[in-house]
Amino acid sequence: MAHEHDHEHEHDHDHDHAHDEVAVDEEARAEAEADARRRLALAQIRQYGDPALRLKAHDVENFDDDLRRLVDRMTALMRDAQGVGLAATQVGVLRRLFVFQAGEEGPRAIVNPVVVEQGGETAPDEEGCLSLQGVRVPVDRSVHVVLEGKDPNGEDVRLELDDYPARVVQHELDHLDGVLIIDRTDDEHRKEALGILRPRAVIG
Ligand SMILES: [Zn+2]
Repeated sequence: MAHEHDHEHEHDHDHDHAHDEVAVDEEARAEAEADARRRLALAQIRQYGDPALRLKAHDVENFDDDLRRLVDRMTALMRDAQGVGLAATQVGVLRRLFVFQAGEEGPRAIVNPVVVEQGGETAPDEEGCLSLQGVRVPVDRSVHVVLEGKDPNGEDVRLELDDYPARVVQHELDHLDGVLIIDRTDDEHRKEALGILRPRAVIG
């Protein structure tokens, strides 16, 4: 009886162990898939050195299906790249719109965004950018910002944002004017970042 019990116990133990291994395998596979999706997304996002990142975007005039398709594509790229914001200039489209996701709320798209109010107080924090891989530099941003613009259907949008979401939209707005985080940081961090971004010699 005792022997049988032990055997059953062993069996349960083996079973649990096998189950854990399956769980670990699935986790590793999901991680590898997410990594592959991220690399595919980054390959579709303009990288430092691309002239599009330095150009000023123009206002959107037509709120049509093309615009909504662009928003859907940018939202998917932002998600796959594991970013919190993506501006149209980063996909080579010189139109004033960006998508962002900061906090609990789902992703949002803002078209023709304008800052109508900006808190005088600024704070530094480290920022990265999907177009400047491997770079993180401190950037001063206003902690409070009020943004007005349109949603992809042409309806008015007004957003009052503080702290992190305020930082994200200021970063994305900069992209629409061809401004990057390396322009906003101090000399020391800019120099370090440019060392990381320096194009490597291509052989073959
Ligand atoms: Zn960026």
